[in-house]
Amino acid sequence: MNIHEYQGKEVLRSYGVSVPNGQVAYSAKEAVDVAKQLESSVYVVKAQIHAGGRGKAGGVKIAKNLDEVRTYAEEILGKTLVTHQTGPEGKEVKRLLIEEGCDIDKEYYVGLVLDRVTSRVVMMASEEGGTEIEEVAEHSPEKIFKEVIDPAVGLQGYQARRLAFNMNIPKKQVNKAVKFMLGLYKVFIEKDASIAEINPLVTTGDGNVMALDAKLNFDPNALYRHKDIQELRDLDEEDAKEIEASKYELSYIALEGNIGCMVNGAGLAMATMDIIKHYGGDPANFLDVGGGATAEKVTEAFKIILSDKNVKGIYVNIFGGIMKCDVIAEGVVEATKQVGLEIPLVVRLEGTNVDQGKQILKDSGLNITAAESMADGAEKIVSLVK
Ligand code: ADP
Ligand code: MG
Repeated sequence: MNIHEYQGKEVLRSYGVSVPNGQVAYSAKEAVDVAKQLESSVYVVKAQIHAGGRGKAGGVKIAKNLDEVRTYAEEILGKTLVTHQTGPEGKEVKRLLIEEGCDIDKEYYVGLVLDRVTSRVVMMASEEGGTEIEEVAEHSPEKIFKEVIDPAVGLQGYQARRLAFNMNIPKKQVNKAVKFMLGLYKVFIEKDASIAEINPLVTTGDGNVMALDAKLNFDPNALYRHKDIQELRDLDEEDAKEIEASKYELSYIALEGNIGCMVNGAGLAMATMDIIKHYGGDPANFLDVGGGATAEKVTEAFKIILSDKNVKGIYVNIFGGIMKCDVIAEGVVEATKQVGLEIPLVVRLEGTNVDQGKQILKDSGLNITAAESMADGAEKIVSLVK
């Protein structure tokens, strides 16, 4: 789960990790009110969306007085920002962070991620801050330093110092940088984060080391033990279909294609997307209805797929193991009764209760194309939507 920069900074602040003073604002008036309370003569007006690259897209503005705060707030609020992380459709700005302008000496990068190869958390650091770390990795990988963290003892002081020296933090600020990194690691572990990226981390004119940006992601499987983090979820930033799906505990990810997929099991769902691609089609979604889905859950899943206006055909690919084919069939029939079905539907059923399932579909009178195999079904749906 992703949160906004201002929320990330509040979490960091609560752990004593240094960030500029600032607060969220939902209107230009609130923006000015927040700025008035800041002890600063320079303010930064920052668009809050779940995507980076805001600076380049005009979503981060330096204001030298309260009038400029109001002007920039009015300009950015309601604007659709298109950055390299939002996709071409962009994201509408509904919240702003108003914070103190910082006297930046130099920008650095510090990030924590889980390295799936070593199964360990890795801290990455670079003196090439402010720019995309992916670009640094491509053009000057020697400028990225890594420390693999032993989970039994956590990030060690010597590791943080080594990173600070490697990234050329000025000597007099090394201790502050080390404290920052140790604090960041503590947040990452205690809050079950999956990413903590500070880009830029800055050294300031008055000798401080602080986070000017904060990207925190959290492991959804651990959210049940972090009610405080759960409350930071911003549904405006999420796909409406994905929100609906999460209510029914369906694993659903919206994609750009036009073939809706209903599959059980994440592996089969991935394979189904691959095989659709193989036959020249494009999946509209990833959807795993799970092992023990009820007819109700299948109905909802089907409705979610149909609510996607890009969907021109549906491929149901079920291997009945724990999930029974007749339950899937009932769900499909029920959903089409409720919302109608005007597009081609290809169904491939195999496994437990397959005959009952096929019978239910046949008796329903729905216009369904039956498939003999997974490949056959993929080929059929691809040709039907063409
Ligand atoms: P994004 O990564 O989405 O572009 P950032 O929060 O990293 O957004 O801001 C972009 C740039 O704006 C930073 O690299 C920094 O140079 C500048 N900036 C951001 N916040 C402040 C601040 N409080 N004071 C001064 N400059 C800032
Ligand atoms: Mg940034």
